[in-house]
Amino acid sequence: MEPEMWVGHSGVPLVTSPGYATSEGVPLMWSVVDRTQFGNQTSCPRRPATKLRSKSSPQRQRIAHVLRGGGKQGGNKEQKEGRRLVLSKLSVLNALEAQHQNLVQKAMAVFEKPDPRENLCCKTALNEGLCGQIARTCHTACYLEVVASCYNMDKATWHNTLKAVNKIFLVTTADYWHQSWCIVMGLSSKRKGRWRYRFWQKMFLTLIGLPLLVGLVLGFVAIFRAVFVTQLDGSMLHIIDDQETQDIVDESQSMERAERLAGALKIATISYDTDHQENENLLAFIKYLEKGRKMSTYEHIQAIEIVSSSLQRLNEIVEFLLIREEANKIIVANNMQPLSLPRQKKPPMPYTGPATAFTSTSVEDYSRHEYLAIIDTDVGSFPLIHNRSFIKREVINKYSLLFTVQGLTRGKLPYLLASHLDVVPVDAKAWEFPPFSGRIVNRTYVYGRGAIDDKAGVMGIMEAVEYMLQKKQRPQRTFFMAFGHDEEVSGKRGAQELAKTLIARGVDHLDFVLDEGFPLHRNLIPGTDRHVAMVGISEKGTATLELSVIGTPGHSSFPPAESAIGILAAAVAKLEENQQPSLLGKGPESAMFRYLAPHVSFGYRILYNNLWLFSGLMAREMEHRPITNAIVRTTSAITMFNGGIKSNVIPPSAKAVINHRVHPAQSVAEVIAHDRKVIDDPRVDIRVKISREAHPVSPFGPTSIPFQMVAASIRQIYPDAIVVPAVFIANTDTRWYLSFTSNLYRFLPTVILPSDVNRYHGNNERISIHHYYKAVSFYYRLIKNADVLIDQVPASTVNNGEEEL
Ligand SMILES: [Zn+2]
Repeated sequence: MEPEMWVGHSGVPLVTSPGYATSEGVPLMWSVVDRTQFGNQTSCPRRPATKLRSKSSPQRQRIAHVLRGGGKQGGNKEQKEGRRLVLSKLSVLNALEAQHQNLVQKAMAVFEKPDPRENLCCKTALNEGLCGQIARTCHTACYLEVVASCYNMDKATWHNTLKAVNKIFLVTTADYWHQSWCIVMGLSSKRKGRWRYRFWQKMFLTLIGLPLLVGLVLGFVAIFRAVFVTQLDGSMLHIIDDQETQDIVDESQSMERAERLAGALKIATISYDTDHQENENLLAFIKYLEKGRKMSTYEHIQAIEIVSSSLQRLNEIVEFLLIREEANKIIVANNMQPLSLPRQKKPPMPYTGPATAFTSTSVEDYSRHEYLAIIDTDVGSFPLIHNRSFIKREVINKYSLLFTVQGLTRGKLPYLLASHLDVVPVDAKAWEFPPFSGRIVNRTYVYGRGAIDDKAGVMGIMEAVEYMLQKKQRPQRTFFMAFGHDEEVSGKRGAQELAKTLIARGVDHLDFVLDEGFPLHRNLIPGTDRHVAMVGISEKGTATLELSVIGTPGHSSFPPAESAIGILAAAVAKLEENQQPSLLGKGPESAMFRYLAPHVSFGYRILYNNLWLFSGLMAREMEHRPITNAIVRTTSAITMFNGGIKSNVIPPSAKAVINHRVHPAQSVAEVIAHDRKVIDDPRVDIRVKISREAHPVSPFGPTSIPFQMVAASIRQIYPDAIVVPAVFIANTDTRWYLSFTSNLYRFLPTVILPSDVNRYHGNNERISIHHYYKAVSFYYRLIKNADVLIDQVPASTVNNGEEEL
């Protein structure tokens, strides 16, 4: 046997049998031939072999033609040599053809044994190192041996014959491809019929076999990627865990905290639009937050003066409560803390003696002590925050609050915790409880507008700092608490002014900013029932468009075929029917799925870790829920529609407002272009009212300390949580802090149920008391963790406002 001559460079035998040819260059043909020969996959037809046996078969004629050197088949030197060889072996070839079927059957009989490798010849082949690693190669080698022995032909002759046939078929194969190409491209030639059968065989392979093969390869890659996923969140966890393990907020005060939150929810700090806010209520909220603030020495003196001047008049006015009321008026007029009811048990005695100094035991003395007691002991919401020298509180632009908490360690970049004081309007009739009643239900939930968005943020941060002070701790790092008052209507007067204040102070660099964002949730992301914490690393952009149509006004008794309202309604309907394209996997949301992948069931892991392959499939699944659809694409919300002035007048114009939230993988211009294309009506005018591109993506990898610190803080409070980077689908005040740092994160550390999603800006907004406690704990942990990692914090080269305290 001359094995090396039968085996190609890649270990695949070059030729199998006459009538069939293959080469290393035509692997697909090889696989067909192989299956046909051994019958182990019976689906492949054998018709070409039969055809070739027929002397009149076109293929046979073609070969004969080539052999005779006909046509333009000159060929290269090798092909000419091949033709010469075959001509000389033509008789052998004929004999071979005649016995072909018989041989195939014999060969098959050999291989019908349970394990062909048991066959002696195979063993021999293996021993001689003829075969490749795969059994098929071995079978082929054995088959050739069987065929050779059946012919009683010396193997060298056999091999030469096959070699020659192979060469000829290289020519005809090339010709075949050319023909197939012509047919596919519609360049039909006269020889079309000749190739029809092979053509369809190949088309079958191309249309089904090839996609199947590609699918198998892709499937293999997808599964491989799903098996070898790495966990991506919480790289800081071990650092922090080693140092401070279970130091979280005391849960026993949960009800008190809930009551304080309920008190905050009673104040209707509604923002209607940029020019209409409940300013009085904003002031009341600020007062509420600082209730219990001790007065400065100057304020003390003033208050005492006011009280004493009131006492002077005790000669005339005997009623204590009246005096207190008067005093309060003056105090409030001086923008100081009003006095609350004195804690006296007995009513003051009427004063009868002369107005002298406060030394006697008369009623004036009694009242003086009471007043001082009121000033000193009125315990309010956050007494410690307001009475620590290292915490500075400022009211910015009348209604926003800025707290500067001066850390013990100087010279490190400060960070900023943001929230907002205002809320969106309510449809009070649709609420189970009055929206500004701060109702606590079953000691489980606090109901009220702002419970999640975002008074839980404001109050949660304040509670965390207050708790820290209760424990007599002082933060190492300087940080700011910035509470804007008009987030719901732009943040221009609140957060923008807060940012300007910081810059004016020389603070133009922050380590990170944490603002409101998604709360934790369960059962919203398929594939896991664990809590998922989506930390916003970017924010969708905005494009608010006004569509308008100008019509011809007239009497409704003879209306035109199309009215302005009709045209506009059609345009708006088209926009709803033709959503913006799915961009799943093209923006930062793909990172979310990569982070989720290690934690979900295997089926979903294949999907999540292979968005490049399955984004279409997943987008279709996610489109069903509005909340997940918002992750897939730029959303289009028809928010306003106005037209018509009187019931019997054809409207002169109609207007609609479309609010798009722009996916980070799309620009505002692309969104508008899509709208124009969809509407496709020049009568509809599109005007851009407000537009803002999506925010840049904040760092979130294993080396991003701020992101990992937020992740670690979440996992300390919710040990089962999967922390993932995500695109926040709404807008926040963070846009005003974009210039301060690239590390902007959006997250609300409480939990909502999937059924609670619609309470956002909807009816019956509420927060669970337990999860509010968790939120406070998160902020507490975050401040502590920021201190633990202080060595890794960049140095600050600017003034943090440190000297001012
Ligand atoms: Zn908000």
